Amino acid sequence: MEFRGFMKEFILSELEDAVGQENVSILKGDKLAYATDYFWIARMVVDKGGEAALPDFVVRPGSAEEVSKVLKIANYYKIPVQTWGGGSGSQGGALPLAGGILLDIKRMDKLINLDVKNGIVTCETGMIFQTLEWYANEQGYSVMHLPSCLTCCTVGGALAHNGIGILSTKYGKIDDQVVNLEVVLPNGDIINTLPVPKHSSGPNLLGLFLGSEGTLGVMTKVTFKLIKLPETRRHHAFLFSDISTGYNACREIVQAVKPSIVRLFDEAETVSIIKKVIGFEKKGSFLNLTLEGYSSIVAEEEKIVLAIAEKHGAQYLGTEYGEKWFENRITFFYPGIMMNNPQMFGTVDTTATYDNIEKVYWAMKHAIEDNFEGVRFISHSSHWYDWGCMNYSRFIIDNPPESEDECIRLHNRIWNAGVRAAIENGGVINDHHGVGVKLSRLMKENYGPAMQVLEGIKKALDPNGIMNPYKMGL
Ligand SMILES: Cc1cc2nc3c(=O)[nH]c(=O)nc-3n(C[C@H](O)[C@H](O)[C@H](O)COP(=O)(O)OP(=O)(O)OC[C@H]3O[C@@H](n4cnc5c(N)ncnc54)[C@H](O)[C@@H]3O)c2cc1C
Repeated sequence: MEFRGFMKEFILSELEDAVGQENVSILKGDKLAYATDYFWIARMVVDKGGEAALPDFVVRPGSAEEVSKVLKIANYYKIPVQTWGGGSGSQGGALPLAGGILLDIKRMDKLINLDVKNGIVTCETGMIFQTLEWYANEQGYSVMHLPSCLTCCTVGGALAHNGIGILSTKYGKIDDQVVNLEVVLPNGDIINTLPVPKHSSGPNLLGLFLGSEGTLGVMTKVTFKLIKLPETRRHHAFLFSDISTGYNACREIVQAVKPSIVRLFDEAETVSIIKKVIGFEKKGSFLNLTLEGYSSIVAEEEKIVLAIAEKHGAQYLGTEYGEKWFENRITFFYPGIMMNNPQMFGTVDTTATYDNIEKVYWAMKHAIEDNFEGVRFISHSSHWYDWGCMNYSRFIIDNPPESEDECIRLHNRIWNAGVRAAIENGGVINDHHGVGVKLSRLMKENYGPAMQVLEGIKKALDPNGIMNPYKMGL
């Protein structure tokens, strides 16, 4: 942003006072570290040597009190603030597109309390999620939030877009795992949600901040539930004739028992990614499914799962491929397997109830495959609820246009087509990657008149609009 005369130096002095001179930088090299997150467009622009949006100040607070001081300064001068965790988000949510202050919270990484009696663990939100999991595992527990970005995302980043882990079908999304939150509001006030997540004491304040992507404040501290590590974890694999049979069988399974992992691949992903990573060669719709807990209960659940799968004509593939999938759960993102620039790709994930999910799958597939040349579409469903499930669909273009602008236009047209197909058939803009700048323009289409509620909350909490501008349609 533009500062007149010596104002930039004045603001710099105030920020240094707030967090210490060593924790503020205006060096170009430091700013460049925040030029891109995992958003395809930002990475493409940087790869092509294009002009990335950089912040004016990089600020690294060490406590909620320091965050509070920074937000008070930002509010006085009306400077935009972008909170940055691990920078692994795929929606451009952390990008400093309006310049201003880049608030990197990774110095705030302390474990505060691990309380086995109450089954809770509290930490600062700048901690890398894997570190929190290691602390819990040392005591025989887990937070049971194991996203594929476990080693590169912060706890705050996962909360900010309401993320999900691979064991979600049994243990839920991150909003099922949080007990309470500390948040610094845009005006600098430090608040806490109630000590417990379940109550009849007004609307769900905790839920307001989960998924708010840094637009309503900065989450600084969180308490999660602790779950005992399971006595046994058993992986199985099945092959269905097609995705439609797979959807029906998986719905029946998750409405009968609670597997931790249910990952059903469509025919296109079965013969591409599954073949490549775990060496499974046949055509059809591949399913890997994991049951865990006490061995005796798992044994009973296995009988139920096998019977339902058999009823739907599945071929049982034994435990080997399921184990292979689990061992390789992060390998799927390795170079050479994961798509990468210059390929154009995107994960168009959405959720719908069971009566709509298959319609959403076909509508998205047609909207993307039938309207864009040279595009491939693959999909799997990996988070299942009593009422419906998620589709994790991807489009891939091996040879996108050369020009930056053409790439951006094509990318946005594909996203518009895919997301609108989901919305028209009962899906939502996104399941767990968030909205960011990528899908900001589509929020109103999904929410309709309900969007005014979110806009009103934003206006009340952040009247100067300093928190994460251009994101989430706010
Ligand atoms: C290889 C890979 C695998 C992935 N797998 C999964 C997966 O399995 N499940 C899943 O849910 N996601 C997954 N993701 C996407 C996911 O969005 C991010 O990886 C991650 O959760 C973001 O965390 P971060 O700390 O990197 O946040 P950033 O990218 O730094 O920020 C993301 C958003 O959160 C906001 N934010 C960050 N910290 C705070 C805070 N303390 N208070 C307020 N706002 C904040 C930012 O402003 C921004 O809007 C994956 C990404 C990659 C690259």
